[in-house]
Parts: sequence; C-alpha cells; structure tokens
Amino acid sequence: MATKFWDKEAETMSRADIERRQLAGLKVAVARALQTPFYKPRLEGVGIKGPDDIKSLADLQRIPYTTKDDLRKAYPYGMVAVDRRDIVRLHASSGTTGTPTVIYLTQKDVARCADFMARSISATGADANDVFQNVVNYGLFTGGLVMHYGAERVGMLVIPSGTGNTSRQIKFMKDFGTTTVHATPSYLLHIHSKLAEEGVSPGDLKLKRAFCGAEPYTEDTRRKIEGLFGIEVFNSYGLSEMNGPGVAFECERRDGMHLWEDGYILEVIDRASLESVPDGELGELVLTILCREAMPILRYRTRDLTSVYPEPCPCGRTHRRIARITGRSDDMLIINGINVFPSQIEEVVMAMPEVGTNYLILVEKQGSLDKLTVKVEVGPGQFADDSRPLNALRERIRARLQALISINPHVELHEPGMLPVSEGKAKRVIDERAKL
Ligand code: AMP
Ligand code: ZN
Repeated sequence: MATKFWDKEAETMSRADIERRQLAGLKVAVARALQTPFYKPRLEGVGIKGPDDIKSLADLQRIPYTTKDDLRKAYPYGMVAVDRRDIVRLHASSGTTGTPTVIYLTQKDVARCADFMARSISATGADANDVFQNVVNYGLFTGGLVMHYGAERVGMLVIPSGTGNTSRQIKFMKDFGTTTVHATPSYLLHIHSKLAEEGVSPGDLKLKRAFCGAEPYTEDTRRKIEGLFGIEVFNSYGLSEMNGPGVAFECERRDGMHLWEDGYILEVIDRASLESVPDGELGELVLTILCREAMPILRYRTRDLTSVYPEPCPCGRTHRRIARITGRSDDMLIINGINVFPSQIEEVVMAMPEVGTNYLILVEKQGSLDKLTVKVEVGPGQFADDSRPLNALRERIRARLQALISINPHVELHEPGMLPVSEGKAKRVIDERAKL
C-alpha cells in the first residue's frame, strides 16, 4: 500500500534539516520562556539570558528539567508567554484536580495542533473518505478537541460522540458507517462486549481502523482488538502538557510511533542518573515543545518509559519512532483513561476523622473496563448494630473521591486491623490488571 503523506516535505526531511529546524525552534522557545515568570529566573540562573545563548542543540543540556509539579507551582498563568487576549483555549491533564496542570493555546497553536494531528491521521491511511467516531471525553481532556480538529483538517466526517452510552455508540457506528474510531483500548473492548446485546456483529460494521491511546496497553491487547473487530489498531501517544494527541503516532507499518521531531525535541533519559541513554534502551521520555506560542515547556519529564528505534522506518518518514509505552516512572495510575495519583485518594480518605490508619487501593479488570476499589479501615468501635452511620460514611468517601478524581470508586469499610500491614514500606496499591 502506498504511504499517504499529509506534508511530505516535513515528514521526510533529512536529519540535518530536522536539526536545523529544532535549533531554530529551540531559540524561539527559549525566547518565549524568558517572557514567563516561571522560566525567566530558571534560565537566567544557568546563564541563558536570550536566544543567542543557545548556539547549538547541545545547549539544551544546560536547561533544567521541568516536572508536573513545576506546572502546578506555576498555576495558573506562571508559564504563559503571551498576552492573555491572545489565548483562545485551555486544556488540562485528565483526572487532575486540586491544582490541575493546565496548558494554553493561541489561534496559531490550535492550528498547529490540528496539523500535527492531520499528519498522524494520514499516516494511518485515513482520509476524507472516512467516517470518524471520536469516542473520547470532550471536556478539558485534549483527546477530544485536538483529535477532532485534526480529523476535520483531514476532511473526515467527524462524529463527536464522546464517551459513554455504549448502545448509542454502537448505533452510530452502524447507522453512519463509521470506518475509524478513536477510543481507549479498554473502552473499545467494552464496546465489543456489548455488540451482541445490540444485535450487531462486527461484520455489520464498516470499521477499518482504530486509534488507541491515553493509557498503556500491550501488543497482545492490540492483536485482540484487531482480531475481534477485524480492524487495524494504531497506537497514538500524547499528553496534555505537549498538546495531547499528535505527538507520536504509528504509520501504516504499525511498528513504533513516529514522534514529530520538527515540533518536539525528544530525549530518553536514565531514571536514576538523568543522563541520556543510547537509542534502543529503555528510559524516561523527556520532551521540549518547539512551536507553542502561548506556553513554552522545556525538557518536560513525561514519566513515560519508552525507547527510541535505532533503525529508520521503511515508510519513508524520517522522524524517529518511539516504542510502545511500557509503564511510568512515577506511581500514577491510569484508570479507564483517567490519570489518578494514589496520593489524591489518600488525601480524601485520611481527611475523614472516622477513618483509621490503614487503607488499600485495588485496581482490577471488570470485563474489559478497569474497576477501582478503595478499602478503608475505620476507627475502633464503629462497627455497631446500627449500620446507618457506616453506610453514610461510605457514601461520603465515595462522593468525595468521585468529585476529586472523576472516577466512581467502589468503597469498602473494614474493622480496625483487618487490612494487611506490611512491615517495610506500606504497599497501598494493588494493580491486578498487570497480571492479565
Ligand atoms: P493526559 O495528559 O491526560 O492526556 O495523559 C497523558 C498520559 O497518558 C501520558 O503521559 C501517558 O502516561 C498516557 N498515555 C497516553 N497515550 C498513551 C499510549 N498510547 N500508551 C501508553 N500510555 C499513554
Ligand atoms: Zn513509518
């Protein structure tokens, strides 16, 4: 099959051209960063007072890393580099509450996101002949709007169906002849499990391909979805801090994701030494976004673990490929596509005076979806004949957790001393999904 390019010149440019673009982009990004209250002291502290202090790509190494915590510290406008009037949109990381990590876009930034997205979509073979159902959350999450704009840019007929209401999703797929879907792998499997109930078989659908991302999944899961629906599944990687989807995407070869290096500088570092690792070796992905006006982010530690493919891709694209994300270097859980930190759960649970000293977070598969259970020990003397106070407490914990993490958990209350206690470091999270 002939490869479809969206922007052949950009997608196949030589390494020297990519690096020339990166250097020019880095100078601009640094100049913008120097306009922000967050980066100005940081950059000046390492002797970078203007874009001319960046003489080669090696100068990137002088810039300190940026973390999610930094984004929270700079909240709300500490990393904004443009006049407030030039910002047209904001997005936030999924599931973050308390202080969210927010990113901002100008009109030009919105257009650029759509371009990178259009490149990614075209690399899968999709085009204006396709009917595209965008089965992800359309709120602050970038996966909805950013993917949507890119799909429109390509000319696909876009159904902004969002998540939930599975029987309506199936009806839309069938009635509109959806050929391409974007969904988390777990939700797509869930949709498959409901097809029979709706009297639909995969053969009744015109589905050809799916873009799956937002959460880690294995090669086996990809093959399972492909087999069940009779489609091709393309891995899609992005994070809100870097504009969401369209950072790295699989081409028709479905073997590693091209990371658009004229838009981002990629580094893979060793988690302990924080030094770069050679191509092919697993490490934490660090990204610098080169072409965002509203909010520069330099050397962002994504916490995602991956490696760079050493070989060029036979498709002809020169932008290097990264391997499937195998995990994270922090304790963030991704539950049905929503990011959750165990500390957020602890905050809610431990703020309740009725709660004792121990709790446990359990994540399991229920069908193809993830299920979150929070087990909590109550203080002494609370398990009495009248179960109403405990039921009310359970409901209070559930409701607060749901408000904070956007996931409805199953809450269990236990008598003091009933949950396992570990002698060393407390093991508060049990993720049964990994065992599948
Ligand atoms: P968010 O900022 O809410 O879009 O979440 C971004 C995070 O989702 C990333 O840092 C990854 O941990 C995860 N993620 C996104 N796409 C993928 C993917 N294709 N495979 C594995 N994890 C992913
Ligand atoms: Zn390729």
